[in-house]
Amino acid sequence: MRIANLFGAGIREEVIHAVDHVDLTIRAREVVGLVGESGCGKSTLGRLAVGLLSLSDGERLWQGMSFADLAPSAAREQQLKMQMIFQDPYASLNPRMRVVDIVGEAPVVHGLIAPRQQIEYVGLQLNRVGLDPTLMRRFPHQFSGGQRARIGIARALAVKPEFLVCDESVAALDVSIQAQVLNLFMDLQSALSLTYLFISHDLGVVQHISDRLVIMYLGRVVESGPTADLFNAPNHPYTKALLAEVGKVEPGKRVFAPIKGEIPSPLAPPPGCHFHPRCPYAMAKCKEGAPPLDEIAPGRWSACYLNDVVSS
Ligand code: SF4
Repeated sequence: MRIANLFGAGIREEVIHAVDHVDLTIRAREVVGLVGESGCGKSTLGRLAVGLLSLSDGERLWQGMSFADLAPSAAREQQLKMQMIFQDPYASLNPRMRVVDIVGEAPVVHGLIAPRQQIEYVGLQLNRVGLDPTLMRRFPHQFSGGQRARIGIARALAVKPEFLVCDESVAALDVSIQAQVLNLFMDLQSALSLTYLFISHDLGVVQHISDRLVIMYLGRVVESGPTADLFNAPNHPYTKALLAEVGKVEPGKRVFAPIKGEIPSPLAPPPGCHFHPRCPYAMAKCKEGAPPLDEIAPGRWSACYLNDVVSS
């Protein structure tokens, strides 16, 4: 990702590696939880995955085919199968549009339904997410936070996606409503055979919903593996630190408390292993080169020079 910094009369361009050397594969019908502190690049990765941001390097594949090789019409068709559900359901809904148009506009524009079918179609979508279809003429501000989250989900589902990127999609909701919306996500996943990339800073949320976890730190994946395995036996010092914080915060709202020190600026990431200034096990070589992401057990990956010691 490139940004331009104004510097006196001139412009100096700096490069932020918001996401660096990340290789993310998600299998059909899998739920992958992407976790890490704010600013670690997980939202950027989510936007790259769904095509809202362009890659500066690398490629995006869907069912083994690169988007770069698709004709524009085929790329548009495939793109529709990937949708994003955002954190703030109020900010992401146009306040001047009625729900019938918020949910029904895209399916008409993309030719999935005829305009005369819109009312009936929107009613079905609202029913599916647990909203009363008779409310479809209302505006977003006439709904509660939980209902607005459901409208956002209905809008995404209305174009018949197969893959959803959910970016902190329940973070803005009260804990009791969070549980209801999470259950809705899980019911929809099973009913519609959906694939999710579930981005969250809340370990309780990802533990509840994910088959597999990917832990990010400052633009890089530091550990990944089946959710139960990571919770039972985390390998990377960063994952251990995240899990150690879980017990210290209020029950029912297991948001990460900050780990010692702050996450460094992506404009000037520490050399070598980015985690070394905060890592209790840092060694001299940790400052010199980034540890590779090694497979430490079938399906378990970790990027740490202590991998051999820990896994042997
Ligand atoms: Fe800590 Fe070094 Fe492992 Fe990085 S590579 S997590 S600094 S021990």
